[in-house]
Amino acid sequence: MHPITRFAPSPTGLLHAGNAFAALYCAHWASEHHARLLLRIEDIDHTRCLPHFADAILEDLHWLGLKWEEPVRKQSEHTQAYQQAIEMLRETGFIYPCFCTRKAIRAELDSIGLAPHSEDAASYYPGTCRQIALAEQEKRMGREPFAWRLDVGKAVARIGIAPGWHDINGLLHPAGLTHDVIIGRKDIAYSYHLAVVVDDAAQGVTHVIRGEDLQSSTGIHRLLQTLLGLPEPAYLHHPLLKTPTGERLAKRIGSSTLRNLRETGVNPERLRHYLLHECQHVWPFIDSDQAAILASLGEK
Ligand code: GLU
Repeated sequence: MHPITRFAPSPTGLLHAGNAFAALYCAHWASEHHARLLLRIEDIDHTRCLPHFADAILEDLHWLGLKWEEPVRKQSEHTQAYQQAIEMLRETGFIYPCFCTRKAIRAELDSIGLAPHSEDAASYYPGTCRQIALAEQEKRMGREPFAWRLDVGKAVARIGIAPGWHDINGLLHPAGLTHDVIIGRKDIAYSYHLAVVVDDAAQGVTHVIRGEDLQSSTGIHRLLQTLLGLPEPAYLHHPLLKTPTGERLAKRIGSSTLRNLRETGVNPERLRHYLLHECQHVWPFIDSDQAAILASLGEK
């Protein structure tokens, strides 16, 4: 049986060189391992994702030379599957409704002295709603907006889960299960964590090849897979493409979009080779420096 992997971009903007590197890394792994490569558009977050970006992603990946199996899975077409997963988790008693506002959580952060933008603060939750009695939960659910949170401590204590996992390159990563993460958002009913495990199972993904920025989510994904009775894929987290000063390439720092590179006259084959084999995870160009881009990546 061939392994199955996937590339899963979110259509929140145009793909940039960092996304192209991630797509190529995954496709390269697939071709080296005779794996099937699938594509998934992660568009459940209708507050940030736009359909025309989904179309642009497909077009740009085609230009880059990526080949994947059809059909492309779109998360927005599978919300029922996510709803069913939430119902299943609800029956197990491992999730609880959380009525806290961001403001209330921020106030709690202040009171314990955590800087609001630190990494810990991003996922910090003081556990306020964990203890609310069932009857009270029901009453408040009828009249207040709420998110679903996973009671991580309870789930780990009941089912027992390995304290870490090995990536397929042999590196051991701690599961890092310290926070009651949101699995159903107040605004869009589901969360990235929930959708990604449901989708990986539905698509038969055996190997998840993705950036190291998502490594801290893998512990939660593995826990959810166990709770939902889904198969556990193997994982590999690759380094991210960075600027020469070590910043993660992102739209906000003016990274080159594939659209821009294409319009500048970049040769996609040169770009593929450059990203995969030459640049050592560093993207030295800025968009305005078209001459430098063309000198390295243009038609010879
Ligand atoms: N949609 C996620 C992103 O664009 C990737 C999710 C994943 O690979 O699990 O960062």
